[in-house]
Amino acid sequence: MTTLAITDGQVLQSDLTVTTADVLIDQDAGEILELGSDLGADADETLDAAGSLVTPGFVNGHCHVAMTLLRGYADDKPLDAWLQEDIWPAEGELTPEDVRVGTELGLLELIKAGTTAFADMYFHVPEIAAAVEEAGLRARLGHGIVTVGKDGDVAREDAQTSLEIAREYDGAADGRISTAFMPHSLTTVGDEYLEEFVPEAREAGVPIHYHANETTEEVAPIVDEYGQRPLAYAAEQGMLEPEDFVAHGVHVDETEIDLLAEAGTGVIHCPASNMKLASGMAPVQRMREAGVTVGLGTDGAASNNDLSMLDEARDAAMLGKLAADDASAVPAEAVVEMLTAGSADAIGVESGRLEEGAPADFAVIDLEQPHLTPPHDLVSHLAYAAAASDVRHTVCDGEVLMRDREVLTLDEAAVRQRALEAAESLAARVE
Ligand SMILES: [Zn+2]
Repeated sequence: MTTLAITDGQVLQSDLTVTTADVLIDQDAGEILELGSDLGADADETLDAAGSLVTPGFVNGHCHVAMTLLRGYADDKPLDAWLQEDIWPAEGELTPEDVRVGTELGLLELIKAGTTAFADMYFHVPEIAAAVEEAGLRARLGHGIVTVGKDGDVAREDAQTSLEIAREYDGAADGRISTAFMPHSLTTVGDEYLEEFVPEAREAGVPIHYHANETTEEVAPIVDEYGQRPLAYAAEQGMLEPEDFVAHGVHVDETEIDLLAEAGTGVIHCPASNMKLASGMAPVQRMREAGVTVGLGTDGAASNNDLSMLDEARDAAMLGKLAADDASAVPAEAVVEMLTAGSADAIGVESGRLEEGAPADFAVIDLEQPHLTPPHDLVSHLAYAAAASDVRHTVCDGEVLMRDREVLTLDEAAVRQRALEAAESLAARVE
């Protein structure tokens, strides 16, 4: 057994209390062995956490990570126009190599911001899986299906691809990769495809992930065509099971909140994307009170425009208070829970908790910064004051992915250079 000790840190435990402790890890099993004092002496390797907060690694519950190549490419438009005029034409030009380098750029950003697990919906998934395997993160991956505007054969092939990818890659990268069947949304995938493929996804034993109730324009067509709210329609299609999770859930009514709570289906709240695209304010406090499992996600870099989960946590708290018209809504403890265990539970990856026997996924945050002084309440600092650049070390599955801000699994300079070239070439092709 090879062991790693993270020494002398302030450790954020599962009950959100903080204790000074060393954390001992079995690197072969990727598991936490023990929290205690003086565990560094006998460990094979140590990671200094003095003056730092050791937290569970952050979990980004909804992302399109390769969209880093489109960061800043098109801004300041509503969802529908932004997708149709800018994003979809550019994505139509993306090659598998573009997706690989865009993913690597995004994974660098995730690691440098303390994120150890994420859920991703995109295409050219084999390239994404290869990058995840190399980078050392945990991920739930899927191929996003869009059938509107496509003829029958092409649309069926897209759905078939999503199913095959979900079957083939589940358990890849020594189990760090899991998968899901991923229809893009309830309005961009025709009901005939859901009726055909959702039962097949169930048979394959993979969860289903899709965008739901993101904008009012996504709600009205379902109500008009099927005479029911989108999540009632989703339930009827068999897409509201405990392992499933939806992104956004902005325009959900009380009946839909109850449906989510009863079904045990997770919701990934994406506050920055919802604000930037003026999609609306998700009723996060209300969903949490009803017992819905809520996690956080950045969505793609083109609608955020970064992949920092600490930014997302702060945005979730601020927007949650505005949405509820109540300063006590979505408090610091709630966002820290959503940032870690909430997201992990929603997307169904074992992570997000710092306790014996749990997966060894951590972020170590430098507290010796002006904006984190004084240390009255470290949960408050995590929710409201810490930044991605404060993350010193990132560990996933027992492996050190970043030590003292240096990413060990990817060559940062080379990835940035390749991403610059790919983005420049892409922009030239789209013009
Ligand atoms: Zn999305």
